[in-house]
Amino acid sequence: MFESPLFWLFAAPGLLLGFYAQSRIKLNYMKYSQVATASGMTGAEVARHLLDAKGLRDVRIETTPGMLSDHYDPRGRVLRLSQEVYYTPSVTAAGIAAHEAGHALQDADDYFPMQVRSFIVPLVQLAAKIAPWVFFGGFVLGNEGVAWAGIILFGAQTLFTLVTLPVEFDASARARNLLTAHGIVTQKENIEGLDKVLGAAAWTYVAGAVSAVGSLLYLVAIAIGSRRERY
Ligand SMILES: [Zn+2]
Repeated sequence: MFESPLFWLFAAPGLLLGFYAQSRIKLNYMKYSQVATASGMTGAEVARHLLDAKGLRDVRIETTPGMLSDHYDPRGRVLRLSQEVYYTPSVTAAGIAAHEAGHALQDADDYFPMQVRSFIVPLVQLAAKIAPWVFFGGFVLGNEGVAWAGIILFGAQTLFTLVTLPVEFDASARARNLLTAHGIVTQKENIEGLDKVLGAAAWTYVAGAVSAVGSLLYLVAIAIGSRRERY
């Protein structure tokens, strides 16, 4: 697989974007975790303030171990922030905390792309488990229909990465608006820093989607190539 030029053709854009996103995250997260916000609020305080302002007092905020492990859990209605974000009064912490609060607001607003994403999660998890078996099973059995069924199952994951894009972009847009409207991030250079932190996170989701589309196209190319070999 790895010596196939076709594989690299489809995989390269996603891989390159992934490296680019990672380098931007490392650079900007570190840089702006050293820059204090005017408000002096920690990530946890920022999230609490923004949630309360929207009447979401019942959404809990907890710490969670690990770097970049921050997330909103819609089932438990809990916002979990990494230690670094929870306790630090920095531009990075404010940006990440507000982004996660943005997901809680999406949930409260019944934001449609988020509903679609939540709806397809169990489907995608099941498809991810069986897709490789079905795809390679199709090849072993020499059954083209089964192989294509495997590709469609892989496609569920691709669809998930695509639906993730509007959800993430919207959470970051909400974060930026709220942080500036509430006077938590004010100075021009801090707002620029905020944009870089949120932008770096957005690139990782774009890289994920491009990788998923690339992988899917690669499988399609294999399936079509094997058909040519047989006839
Ligand atoms: Zn997010």
